[in-house]
Amino acid sequence: MKKEIYFDNAATTMPYREVIEEVKRAAEEYYNPSAIYDRAIEVSRKLESVRQLFLDSVSAESGTVLFTSGGTESINTALLNGAAGKKNIVSTDYEHSATIKALAQASSNGQEIHIVKATDRRIDTGRIVDAVNERTAMVSFMHVNNEIGDILDIYELGRSIRKKNPQTLIHVDAVQSYMKLGIDVEKAKIDLMSISGHKIHAIKGIGALYVRNPQKLKPLIFGGGQERGLRSGTENVVGIRALGKAIELGAMNFSKNAEKLKNLKAHFAARLSDISDHRINSAADGADHILNVSFLGVPSEILLHSLESEGIYVSSGSACSAGKKGSHVLEAVNLRKEERASALRFSFSALNELSEIDEAIAVLKRSVEEIRKFTKYRTGKNV
Ligand code: PLP
Repeated sequence: MKKEIYFDNAATTMPYREVIEEVKRAAEEYYNPSAIYDRAIEVSRKLESVRQLFLDSVSAESGTVLFTSGGTESINTALLNGAAGKKNIVSTDYEHSATIKALAQASSNGQEIHIVKATDRRIDTGRIVDAVNERTAMVSFMHVNNEIGDILDIYELGRSIRKKNPQTLIHVDAVQSYMKLGIDVEKAKIDLMSISGHKIHAIKGIGALYVRNPQKLKPLIFGGGQERGLRSGTENVVGIRALGKAIELGAMNFSKNAEKLKNLKAHFAARLSDISDHRINSAADGADHILNVSFLGVPSEILLHSLESEGIYVSSGSACSAGKKGSHVLEAVNLRKEERASALRFSFSALNELSEIDEAIAVLKRSVEEIRKFTKYRTGKNV
């Protein structure tokens, strides 16, 4: 079988080998963590050690973490019940659909939602702060945008939002940044933070929500009272242990992985010069694991499948909204129609190699040139 080149790590990541071993061990230790005999207490103890591992990984001095089914559930819990009963949530129009849809639900529940629009290909964080007033119960923004890789300065935002309204809660969607950028929830004054296991080489179906002040949060799921009554249901022990292993390995290799991602992106961006009429839609100072590029005159889905036929996997938009028309993020950051129609997202992980980039660029160049013959694109036409 041909070797695959997987450049869709913002959609999901391959679990670490050690994670798969941990999954097997955890599945074999099948006792219910709520039971009171020793074997079950041991399961519960291991689960609590993952909780602490997570809190340490974001330098939390107080608060707790709820284990959830993933980024989407964490975000929904934060936005729907993190500031329950209060008015006015501020967010932006280039958030993940989990945020956009949860805010739509919050709005139909009577919350007032204020959306800050991205312009000139960026979110102006000053405008997020400007939107905060004495009635703002919560501000929610992503740390790293999943489609173009923009990084928002969580520290500056935290300081400025707190200064403007010390009561405003801050929720950060850190699904794309956790384990790639350092996060200190104390310095960034974060009250709630969502992360997802499958983006950090754990497995699907596990996520977490950091909660600074559990008294302020209302549960979204009711039942047996697990997770301090804030998220009922027998814990996903296998997922939690997988998450713990991924955090342990991610934290241990943090600098090495960050350096690798930096080199991968720089090499990819440099090698793109082999291909005419492309636009890099990601900011130069964006996250190192995401590079969004338009190849003018080349419909993105045709190019995606052409690459797929050569064993190279990329994305033409957010995986969670695959199949839907267009990308609200690329629209929000004002890309031209032809740039949006030809945009592909390449996303890397520390498990990728530089040699894969050279192989992918050679295939990419060939595919782009081939497709342009069919679309009758004249090089330089839209430059
Ligand atoms: N937020 C961002 C920025 C994401 O990239 C994603 C997934 O693509 C999510 C939230 C949703 O996470 P999950 O797939 O774990 O529900």
